[in-house]
Amino acid sequence: MKNRFTILIVDDTETNVDILVELLSDIYEIVVALDGESALEILNDQAIDLILLDIMMPKMDGYEVCKSAKQKPNSKDIPIIFITAKIDENSIEKAYDTGGVDYVTKPFKPKELFARIKTQLHLRELIRELEASRKTLKRLSELDPMTNLCNRRYFTHVSKNVLALARRDRSDLSLIMLDIDKFKRINDTYGHKMGDDVLVAFAAILMKMIRKSDYACRFGGEEFIVMLPETPLDGAIEIAEKIRKSIEKLSLKTEDRQNVMITVSLGVTSVDLLNDHHIELAIQRADEALYRAKKEGRNQVVVLPADGERRDAAVTPE
Ligand code: GH3
Ligand code: MG
Ligand code: MG
Repeated sequence: MKNRFTILIVDDTETNVDILVELLSDIYEIVVALDGESALEILNDQAIDLILLDIMMPKMDGYEVCKSAKQKPNSKDIPIIFITAKIDENSIEKAYDTGGVDYVTKPFKPKELFARIKTQLHLRELIRELEASRKTLKRLSELDPMTNLCNRRYFTHVSKNVLALARRDRSDLSLIMLDIDKFKRINDTYGHKMGDDVLVAFAAILMKMIRKSDYACRFGGEEFIVMLPETPLDGAIEIAEKIRKSIEKLSLKTEDRQNVMITVSLGVTSVDLLNDHHIELAIQRADEALYRAKKEGRNQVVVLPADGERRDAAVTPE
């Protein structure tokens, strides 16, 4: 039975190709190129797992093919085994220097060639798995597991890039800081599990109210931040007010069918691209606005524009 690996054989001598095809085609998918240029073309459009590469070929030799393949993103990680009649030490050294992983001399011993191919394919699989786990871990390290929003660490990282982009394009950038009101009371009254459910429901509403290009993050326990690229202060105020109203309408039920209602306080600001040298300055302002919203009775939006002037939140019509 064939396994799922595809091997590209590159050799200008058809009898050599025939021997290799005869030997390998029961186990592997085989693709053949009779010169360097067509090998590179194949690498451009096909998924190849390993290359068996002759060195002496007219026009483009094996070293050049190898160098070229190693420079292209879609072929740079494909293991290349040189298979050649050249046995001098300098040729062998050059093969490794250009990016080859192994070197087999002709005439080769079939079982040895099999073993070398198997080893390289196995290593490639391990590297792929490692890369996949690295990606998964990275994603997990950026997410808050309870709400599935991004976490503070990711926010800190991404906000620097977003600020740099806004500066480059001279585009608006706004922030909303949110904190659930009297959340401790939810835990104390209905239990920690209900508190968790409220946080999950809160996060879901937050995600629903923003665009794909916005960022909603869990900043701390029951504190969240939303970053809105290409959004002026007025737009952010409008969204903040919409969020506030949606949260006010949110009603969760306990197991014994009691209604659990919450409200949220929000602080809104926009980023001053000239004077906010770090995003942290704008975050502090949004936090200050949030603090005032709490002080003035909660369940409200307070705006602190970049110039420091307090502004009343625009009330959207019912
Ligand atoms: P305020 O209106 O001033 O914000 O009052 P508050 O009670 O919301 O604020 P406080 O900071 O006093 O309490 C926050 C509470 O949130 C305390 C903490 O136990 C709870 N909390 C933080 N993270 C979680 C969580 O993941 N799950 C649950 N259930 N509770 C959490
Ligand atoms: Mg709170
Ligand atoms: Mg808090």
